[in-house]
Amino acid sequence: MDNIFSKKVEGIEISGIRKFFNKVAEYPGAISLTLGEPDFKIPKEVKEAMKNAIDEDKTTYTPNAGILELRTAISQYLLKDSIRYSENEICITVGGSEALLCAFNALINEGDKVLIPTVAYPAYESCAKLVGAEILTYKLKEDFSIDMDSIREIIKKEHPKLLVVSFPSNPTGAVMTKLQRDELYSIVRDEDILIISDEIYSAISFENHYSISQYDDIKDKVILVSGFSKMFSMTGIRIGYICASESILKEVVKVHQYNVSCAPSIGQYGALAGLKEALYHCEIIKNEFKIRRDYVYGRLKAMGLEVELPKGAFYILPSIRKFNLTSEEFCNKLLQNKKVAIVPGSAFGIGGEGYIRISYCYSTENLKKALDSLEEFIKELTN
Ligand code: PMP
Repeated sequence: MDNIFSKKVEGIEISGIRKFFNKVAEYPGAISLTLGEPDFKIPKEVKEAMKNAIDEDKTTYTPNAGILELRTAISQYLLKDSIRYSENEICITVGGSEALLCAFNALINEGDKVLIPTVAYPAYESCAKLVGAEILTYKLKEDFSIDMDSIREIIKKEHPKLLVVSFPSNPTGAVMTKLQRDELYSIVRDEDILIISDEIYSAISFENHYSISQYDDIKDKVILVSGFSKMFSMTGIRIGYICASESILKEVVKVHQYNVSCAPSIGQYGALAGLKEALYHCEIIKNEFKIRRDYVYGRLKAMGLEVELPKGAFYILPSIRKFNLTSEEFCNKLLQNKKVAIVPGSAFGIGGEGYIRISYCYSTENLKKALDSLEEFIKELTN
C-alpha cells in the first residue's frame, strides 16, 4: 500500500536528545549527560502516598481533569509565584508532554502560524508539525533571553496564532527577568495571540520566577504547562498539568479525554502528597543543582569555552563554534573518542548549531569524570 504513514508523522523525527541517549548503549562504559532526569529519588512522602493509593484501591478512573484535591493543591501552590488559576482552570495530564500536545490539538488548525523560540525544547516544533501548523521561529540574544524586537516584528508582520515561551529554559538554563516579563506583556497585551508558557522547571529556578502567566488581565490568552517530573524527581510516574481559562480548558479536556481518559490515579495521589508534604525536596535539589551548576560552569570556563551562567533548570549550553565542527560532529567524536555523551545543540532547532547541551542533573562523580574527558578532548582538538 502507498501512503501507509501520516505525512505529518513522517515529517517529524524522534528527538535528538533520545538519539544521543540511545547511542550510549553502543559504547560500554560511556558516561551519559544527555537526559533531563534528576538523579534524586522520589521523596518518601510521595512514595508512601502511591503505595497507599494501591492498598486503598484508589486505582480506578479519576475525573478526566484529575482529582479535585490535586487541582486545589496546584491552585494553592501556584500562588507562591503570584499565579492564579482556580481548580476549574486546571487539568492533570500524563506529564507536561501530554499537556503540550493537548494544547496544540485544542488550539491549532491546519496552516495556523505558531511562533517558537530557537533554541527550544524539541517538543514544541514536533507538536506544531503534528497539528499541521506553519512554524515561525524567534531569536534569542547571546545571553539566551528573548530578542523582544524579533518577537515584536514577527507578531506585527505574520500575526501568529500562538506563541511559545519557556523559562527556566531547556536547553539554555535562562530564566525570565521581571523587566523581560513586563516587556513581553506590553507586546502581547493588545495582540490577538495565544501564549503557551512551559514552566516545568519553575521549582528549579535559582532566581525569582517571573512569567507571563502572572498577569490576570491576559488570562484568556495564556496557557500554562507544568508538571511534577522534575520537581519531585518522578519522571516515570508521568504526572503534569495544564492551566487555562475555563473556555480554553474545556476544549483541552476533550482532547485529553480521548487521549488518555485521565492521568494515572496512583501518580495523582503521589503528586498531591508531594505538594502537601514534600516541598522541602525542591529546596534540597535546587541547592544541589546550584552547586553542580557552579562546578560545571567553572570547569567549562577554565577550558576556555564561551558559556552563559544558567539561572535555572539543570542544563548548560556552551558554544563550540571555535572548533569548526558541527555540533553533531563534535558530539559524535566526543562519544567515540572519550565515551562521553552530550546532546548537539542542533537537536534544539536551527539556533542551536554551534552549541552543545550538557545536562548536569547527574552525580558529581560522573560530572567530574565527563568534564575531565571533555577537557582532554578539547586539548586534543586544539593541538
Ligand atoms: N517541557 C520541557 C521544557 C521539558 O524539558 C520536558 C521534559 N524534558 C517536558 C516539558 C515534559 O516533561 P514530562 O512529560 O516528563 O512532564
